[in-house]
Amino acid sequence: MKTDDDCLFCKIVAGDIPATVVRESARTVAFRDISPQAPTHVLVIPKEHYRDAPELASADPAALAEVVSEGAAVAEAEGLGAFRLVFNTGAEAGQSVFHTHAHVLGGRTMQWPPG
Ligand code: IMP
Repeated sequence: MKTDDDCLFCKIVAGDIPATVVRESARTVAFRDISPQAPTHVLVIPKEHYRDAPELASADPAALAEVVSEGAAVAEAEGLGAFRLVFNTGAEAGQSVFHTHAHVLGGRTMQWPPG
């Protein structure tokens, strides 16, 4: 499995850094964001290290599909009728951790366009 010793989310996958895990599948882990931006704010990540969603889509499209379906499963488990699924891609778009992750955000009214 592709991992990066310096990656925060790889350390969460390995259990070396604690996280509040809400869901796990063969290829993904979902855990609560440490700095929630909505009443529900969960991150869904592939266990394998890829820097962003497009890189994951090229390397392992089934894993990207699993990230999306697990995000929907998190939303259902949290009782969200609607939710936002966000992949910040690149630093200027707000990506700060370079291990693919989908933000699952919900539980409040969302604005558009995002900031
Ligand atoms: P990004 O800015 O789209 O890359 O999202 C990274 C997210 O990871 C941010 O929402 C952070 O709050 C979150 N985060 C950073 N460190 C941790 C952690 O140790 N546990 C859970 N979430 C984290």
